Amino acid sequence: MPIATVNPATGETVRTYEAHTPDEVERRIAAAYETFLTYRTTSFAERSRLLRRAAELLDEDREDIARTMTIEMGKPLAAARAEAAKCAKAMRWYADHAEALLADEHPAEADVRDAGADAARVLYRPLGPVLAVMPWNFPLWQVVRFAAPALMAGNTGLLKHASNVPQTALYLGELFHRAGFPEGCFQTLLIGSGAVEAVLRDPRVAAATLTGSEPAGRSVAAVAGDEVKKTVLELGGSDPYIVMASADVERAAETAVTARAQNNGQSCIAAKRFIVHADVYDSFAERFTAGMAALTVGDPMADGTDIGPLATEQGRRDLEELVDDAVAKGAEVLCGGGRPEDRTAGWFYRPTVLAGITPEMRIHQEEAFGPVATLYRVAGIDEAVAVANDTPFGLSSNVWTLDDADVERFVRDLQAGGVFVNGMTASHPALPFGGVKRSGYGRELSGHGIREFCNTTTVWRR
Ligand code: NDP
Repeated sequence: MPIATVNPATGETVRTYEAHTPDEVERRIAAAYETFLTYRTTSFAERSRLLRRAAELLDEDREDIARTMTIEMGKPLAAARAEAAKCAKAMRWYADHAEALLADEHPAEADVRDAGADAARVLYRPLGPVLAVMPWNFPLWQVVRFAAPALMAGNTGLLKHASNVPQTALYLGELFHRAGFPEGCFQTLLIGSGAVEAVLRDPRVAAATLTGSEPAGRSVAAVAGDEVKKTVLELGGSDPYIVMASADVERAAETAVTARAQNNGQSCIAAKRFIVHADVYDSFAERFTAGMAALTVGDPMADGTDIGPLATEQGRRDLEELVDDAVAKGAEVLCGGGRPEDRTAGWFYRPTVLAGITPEMRIHQEEAFGPVATLYRVAGIDEAVAVANDTPFGLSSNVWTLDDADVERFVRDLQAGGVFVNGMTASHPALPFGGVKRSGYGRELSGHGIREFCNTTTVWRR
């Protein structure tokens, strides 16, 4: 894949970039390592000051970087602005909380004595340069949710961003530098995926985090496993959105449209499978389908656009194949089902709702990375849980019910890293984010995220 900005709303190549040479990559790895040796001893106060400055700069740059993101991957401009604002908020959150999250821990005195020590404590030390392999769908947020905690913990970062968002990638490297972080603290590597292995095998690189597809995750984790390096993987999702008979169906249907269509349908935590109790199925299906059909598909730069193009031509092809396969095997198209007729350029796809899904259809097991929803009718909670868990993924889940017993059952039995009740999944700096099964492992955000790339160190003293 060439490293290039290709506007997905027009298909036009805006700018292409030469990949960094092996010498340049070497220079940047060396800088990440050398900088780490001194940066690791800086105070939390100093790191907070720098991260706050980065947040200020990002706020000032919001309009420009939002436009860049929209040109590079097609999200509606309003969503791009919101993403930039969310990144600044996360930076401030970690600037405020990192010191407390990484405070030394003191075991109970009786346990210290039992361990034969006069004193013992546990502390969190940084690991070193961390390689971040990141995707294009939230090109700022995916990076910042790694970078903010990593830098606050005293690590340095090397970013290998997706090849279709080079301008956003370069912006991020410059942002941290402009904020005053020492050179080498956070750098962008303009490299293709084929160059990742050599970086990961470099002994100066301590660990890696990857957000993206399962094949990319498997490949990076295999190399990291071979090198015995820590990884965090945040891969795809096919999150269930369960609506029980007691639910507020109107609100559930309204929220469902946002949950499925956000980011042009290209979000790992988007609700993708809508599992609805038979008693409210017809009412939900009618409202939800009407909401999806009413979304405005068009120029992502224009006010009032709900759905822009898919980010890549390949992404649209993959989505079309999933839908076509389902329809060929008997799925009913309640709305959408193809490209908008009025858009010949760009990689647009109409918001689509499919019903009558069966296990033979690929979409039953695979992630639909675009504005395509599948509907399932279930007879009760046992079937709802069974359908929800009948997927290789386990990122998050959404349940709508007014019954406390239902809530407890879902919280106990849903195989996912999150259960969002009467709302839709959204990330927040204070809440851990990540999945189980083939959605990956490890957690981002909150105290769990910042500790992933720390050396949990036991100090025992007599
Ligand atoms: P990829 O997983 O291919 O890309 C994500 C990142 O991984 C990019 O930086 C990419 O680099 C890199 N990468 C890809 N393959 C390797 C590899 N073998 N070794 C090292 N790095 C690699 O995502 P796609 O853009 O191809 O999207 C395909 C599907 O992935 C989507 O349809 C969706 O299902 C899922 N996905 C999930 C995301 C999530 O948020 N969890 C985000 C994006 C995609 P490069 O761009 O240079 O190839």
